[in-house]
Amino acid sequence: MRIQSIEAIPLVRNLQDVFQGGTYKITSRNTIVTRVVLDNGIVGETFGGDEDQYQFEVCRIVNDIYRPLLLGEDVRDVEKNWERMWLTRVDLNNRGIHTLDLAKHCVETQAIAAVDNACWDALGKALNQPVYKLLGGYRDHVPVLAIGGYVMQGKTLADLEREVEYYKEHGIFGMKLKVGYLSVDEDIERAHVARKAGGPRFHLCVDANQAWTVAEAMQFARGVRDLNLAWLEEPVRWYDQIEGNARVRTLGIPVNAGQGEISRHGCRDLIVRGAVDILNVDVTIAAGVTEWRRIAAMAHSFGVSMAHHEEPQIALHLLAAVPNGLHVEIFPNYQRDPMWYDLPVQQPVIRDGLMYAPDGPGFGMPLRQDTIDKWRAR
Ligand SMILES: [Mg+2]
Repeated sequence: MRIQSIEAIPLVRNLQDVFQGGTYKITSRNTIVTRVVLDNGIVGETFGGDEDQYQFEVCRIVNDIYRPLLLGEDVRDVEKNWERMWLTRVDLNNRGIHTLDLAKHCVETQAIAAVDNACWDALGKALNQPVYKLLGGYRDHVPVLAIGGYVMQGKTLADLEREVEYYKEHGIFGMKLKVGYLSVDEDIERAHVARKAGGPRFHLCVDANQAWTVAEAMQFARGVRDLNLAWLEEPVRWYDQIEGNARVRTLGIPVNAGQGEISRHGCRDLIVRGAVDILNVDVTIAAGVTEWRRIAAMAHSFGVSMAHHEEPQIALHLLAAVPNGLHVEIFPNYQRDPMWYDLPVQQPVIRDGLMYAPDGPGFGMPLRQDTIDKWRAR
């Protein structure tokens, strides 16, 4: 079970529409396919991330730095292999102080994630077990949420209503409404429209993507206090994640944050300083399955639940594996996430609002080579 080769392949696909969130807009779907080949012929392969700016840099670190570091290592030695990548100092030839301190580290953690996640797929295949079983096997299905409610050109409140109805008709458990781009009052109105269309049982949450000051987040929270929102996601701006989120929590709506964290250390601080009810740290950004399971165990000790930012192909296994796992999220819109529909040979089964973990070994989601060839970035 020794690692014979590792390869990261960047994929890029421009989207037809522009999808506007609180602090960004999406115009392309990027992802990285990582392949780990073992000396017994087993191939671990998965995809992850939607990195635009640093995609090639992430692949370069995998192919030029972590590949030679791990060749010949036993894929079962997950902690040892992870620690070797984590402790390696990576030179990104970057002298800009701000990106040296901030962006550089998330490039490294994404590269570690790419390798670590593919190694878990290989490990599952080598042991003929699904990853969610290897990680704990708490259940075999997870409720599925739609990421939607984007602000789009010409989109009306009636369109938002129809969007919610579409999710309900397609067996989706609930929805994440994007807020933070328009005024707080407009977002309060949009949340009321979504709740009315979804009905009282629809699992409705909102995601501001760090768009608001604490005052704006609290204004929103007061305006939706009767809507029974499942959570406010990343309500406050990037610089105030700890004290700011802790203050918003006092209004009683659960706060979900952590997709901007890249290590268990950042998640630890959010937890112990009372900034979150739910962590949605992303396994493709924060250094892979090996780091995620440590974070999930730590969170469980503090009564904090685990959600996950996108990436259902891996998140499904993680959230099914642990007792404090919540929902997996998808874009039930081909235009927003064509890779989810075109890259796996088959998507997991969704039934009655639940997504079922595939029974096959590893992540149980073989990838289509023709899709990889078609969208490979050069
Ligand atoms: Mg989010």
